[in-house]
Amino acid sequence: MSRRGLKTLKSGVQSIIGGLGDLLLPPSCAVCNALLDDPKQVVCPVCFEGFERLAQPICASCGQPCPESEFCPECKSSDPVCSIRSAFAFGGSLAEAVVKLKFESRCQLAPFFARLIFESSLPGYDLTKIDLVIPVPLHSAKLKERGFNQSALIAGQIAGLLRVPFDYLHLARSRPTESQSKMKTRFEREQNVKGAFSTTKKHPLAAKRICLIDDVVTTGSTLRACAETLTKAGAESVIATTLARTIHW
Ligand SMILES: [Zn+2]
Ligand SMILES: [Zn+2]
Repeated sequence: MSRRGLKTLKSGVQSIIGGLGDLLLPPSCAVCNALLDDPKQVVCPVCFEGFERLAQPICASCGQPCPESEFCPECKSSDPVCSIRSAFAFGGSLAEAVVKLKFESRCQLAPFFARLIFESSLPGYDLTKIDLVIPVPLHSAKLKERGFNQSALIAGQIAGLLRVPFDYLHLARSRPTESQSKMKTRFEREQNVKGAFSTTKKHPLAAKRICLIDDVVTTGSTLRACAETLTKAGAESVIATTLARTIHW
């Protein structure tokens, strides 16, 4: 048997053993591995209690808590190309859960996250008026390294819940970018993703109302760079939704 054939056989056997493991072992929390009473649960009640819903009221543009006015100080001085809403504040057991999905392939978290977003009240958003769901894309080199795009896993599930098409083919990260977490200022983050996204020559994005999906938003520079690209491609409107948001104050 060729090397390639052996590799395919090995991964097939591994997935069967993995599947049997799922059947034979009692279900456990995707975050802390505690045994779950209810096999339909993905995260145990203790970990879930650490998921902090984003406090209202929020900035009408970027979605971070903003008790005193309609727009936060940052959004007051700029004209963002798309608004952002997030279901939870980033931190605690939710941050651990995001790491489990992203770096430990706990893929059962993707449908769980999608349902949490879908069932969240996102002020000012009407998700029934969306034509297309698109994830923030990874660069092809990163996709090869990780094997999957966590935002695409969540976005695909959300599209299913909304009963609209899911498009992961026509928006691409055309150049690799540094991790936004390494950038210190908003300016650095904007420069890091400037011109990093593009659409394919032929695309079905014109006149579409698009919902962009990402797992976590920090300043929104990445989402806005994506939204700008989609708007240039003729999208009618772009809104962005994420599982979590880093709170700046
Ligand atoms: Zn747990
Ligand atoms: Zn804002």
